[in-house]
Amino acid sequence: METMDSRIEVLRADIQQCRKCSLYETRHHALVGNGAENARIMLIGEAPGAEEDQQGIVFIGKAGQMLDKILMACNFSRDKHLFITNIVRCRPPGNRPPKDEEIAACLPYLERQIELINPSILITLGATALRSLAGGTSRITRDRGKWQYYGTRLMMPTYHPAALLRNPGLKKETWEDFKEVIRKYREMADPGHPCNYV
Ligand code: SF4
Repeated sequence: METMDSRIEVLRADIQQCRKCSLYETRHHALVGNGAENARIMLIGEAPGAEEDQQGIVFIGKAGQMLDKILMACNFSRDKHLFITNIVRCRPPGNRPPKDEEIAACLPYLERQIELINPSILITLGATALRSLAGGTSRITRDRGKWQYYGTRLMMPTYHPAALLRNPGLKKETWEDFKEVIRKYREMADPGHPCNYV
């Protein structure tokens, strides 16, 4: 009989062996994502960077360190509360944005993963993740901080941590967005979730 664990393993193998777009030619790792496979919150970034591609772990470069600071302030642990992944699983050369056809080829993996992990809350990080899930007319500067639905799930768009490194002025808005997530997480999952700031 097919169990949840076996479906997760099949998805993992499908991603790691994937050659559905040309990004497979230059990758070192196709990243499945990291975190709790029963997480209530899923964070979705754009694509792996150089360090992530080398090590096969999501968000471990400078942007990852920025994300970790935010998550620590939220009292969200990568292992317990979250699953973190990307729209595109293989690194675009030179860190260019993924092309539409690469996103289209890769998106079914995310859809399968969302069904399997079954999070209540999705957080999109940056314009690519937002546009990929909410449609091409979305705009990060206009839509961030506002809850929307992806199917039946709540989705909070916010800035990508790499944008905060380039423009520290975006940190304040990003923190407001994460505070909204903490409030919603308390409503939906754990009323006693501790956080000193909310
Ligand atoms: S980016 Fe996605 S679709 Fe393209 S090869 Fe990697 S896993 Fe496959």
